[in-house]
Amino acid sequence: MSERKQFRAIKGTRDILPPDSALWNWFEQTAREVFESYNFGEIRLPILEEVDLFARSVGSDTDIVSKEMFTLELRAFQEIYDLRGQLTDSVESPVRFTGSLFQFLRAIDSARASDRLSRESGSAVNQLHSAYKELNERIADDRVLAEATERPETHPEIHDRIRQAEAIAMEVRFSREAAALRPEATASVCRAYIEHNMQALPGNQKLYYIGPMFRRERPQKGRYRQFYQIGAEVLGQSDAPAIDAEVLEMLLVFFNHVGLTRTTLYVNSIGDKNCRPQYVELLREELRKVKDKLKEDSQRRIETNPLRVLDSKIPEEQPIIETLPRISDHLCDDCRAHFAKLKEELNLRRIDYKENWRLVRGLDYYTRTTFEVTAEGLGSQNAVCGGGRYDGLVELLGGPPTKGIGFAIGTDRSILSIEEGGNVPKLGGLAVYIAWMGQASYPTAVNIAKKLRAAGLSVELPPEEMKFKKSLGLADKLGARYALIIGEDEVALGTFTLKRLADSDQKKFAEGELLEYLESERRR
Ligand code: ATP
Ligand code: MG
Repeated sequence: MSERKQFRAIKGTRDILPPDSALWNWFEQTAREVFESYNFGEIRLPILEEVDLFARSVGSDTDIVSKEMFTLELRAFQEIYDLRGQLTDSVESPVRFTGSLFQFLRAIDSARASDRLSRESGSAVNQLHSAYKELNERIADDRVLAEATERPETHPEIHDRIRQAEAIAMEVRFSREAAALRPEATASVCRAYIEHNMQALPGNQKLYYIGPMFRRERPQKGRYRQFYQIGAEVLGQSDAPAIDAEVLEMLLVFFNHVGLTRTTLYVNSIGDKNCRPQYVELLREELRKVKDKLKEDSQRRIETNPLRVLDSKIPEEQPIIETLPRISDHLCDDCRAHFAKLKEELNLRRIDYKENWRLVRGLDYYTRTTFEVTAEGLGSQNAVCGGGRYDGLVELLGGPPTKGIGFAIGTDRSILSIEEGGNVPKLGGLAVYIAWMGQASYPTAVNIAKKLRAAGLSVELPPEEMKFKKSLGLADKLGARYALIIGEDEVALGTFTLKRLADSDQKKFAEGELLEYLESERRR
């Protein structure tokens, strides 16, 4: 027997199978409905983006970018490769070769103009330009062209030049653009906002996205390398605290709809470019004084990113961190007023929250409002949503001055928490299993299946005839609510027998009544 390799999903990735996938679809569909009730529209984004987009926004010193990103090299030069192929294909024909060389050089020149040609290729390109000029001049003479085409040996210098040019063309190298599987999507939303000139559209842009993200982390419960997020962003000219509050309201309304109720919302303000730098410096000075008492990671962060020390979960460090200066005592007047107004707005909307001065978040782009939602039943991976304000991010990516705020919900963990809480809704499932017997009843079975499906019911029609007992047994195992029995008797009488599988209650119906009965059942 031959040994075959058993393929398995790549480490940190997984399949979501039915019936779990129904729960996922319902979760995502509920988000769509809630978000659209707040006038958010869906943005569908690419999964591949330039590495630099994340390096610039999330920050190249963050774990996400420095350690966890899946990158690949994207050859954005297919057209040029194709043109080069044409060159090789036309070496026998001086006129076709010269024409192809002209097109190749045009593509190369535009790649050079947009900085996509490797620097070392400059001299090859210059040589190709001279070769083109020379060939073009020679074949301008009709007699020479005819001879060189029909009897190549009469003009060896032309054919040598062609082969030489073709070899040089092979040496042209391009700079490659590195692409990454997106580790998050806020940067992509900002990129799209700029690319499509969305600041010219009326009002704030309110966008949501749903899809997979990729981070090379150590897989464990609630932590995967391909995981899923549902996120929402508001981009525009205003940074009114009412926007922050509305986004939080929407988030909690959504969690409520999906039964994620044992959650805690933490909020904080981490200041802006006017006050945070001074606070970070103060924090650094205080941390240096207690450096010896901290572990290695925190010691390093004193210099690289002192705010991240506040994230530490190491028990021995906790009493030390508690004595550190708090950002809330060092906000500038504007940031302080913004945060106070946000809390007022949250109270107005009856949103419960806890202030957490240590909530700084791991990404570089946040300003002012930051927040996180934790849920029960998840152990240490208990954050189901993170977000905050990122005024200035769009500008950092080369766009116009823009304010922004958003969040990302972790779908994998949210679903885990819903399941752990035992709050799983009863979704869909198989309504009717059609137990047909005898070839004469088959056409009736096919017909009624089509009608029931058109009425919105989930119907299983066995493709092959089965013994009555076996058929009903399978209906039970598949979890069908009803078995519709169609035997030769039924066909002869023009009736259907409907058996409710939970209690074996059986009723006879004509077709019209059957549809009506099941329709009303569907709505219950
Ligand atoms: P954590 O501190 O748990 O690593 P994070 O701060 O890295 O979270 P964000 O970048 O804010 O997470 O992403 C928002 C949400 O996405 C998180 O709250 C979490 O629910 C989810 N999430 C992040 N990374 C993963 C992962 N590797 N696997 C599953 N879900 C994740
Ligand atoms: Mg993380």
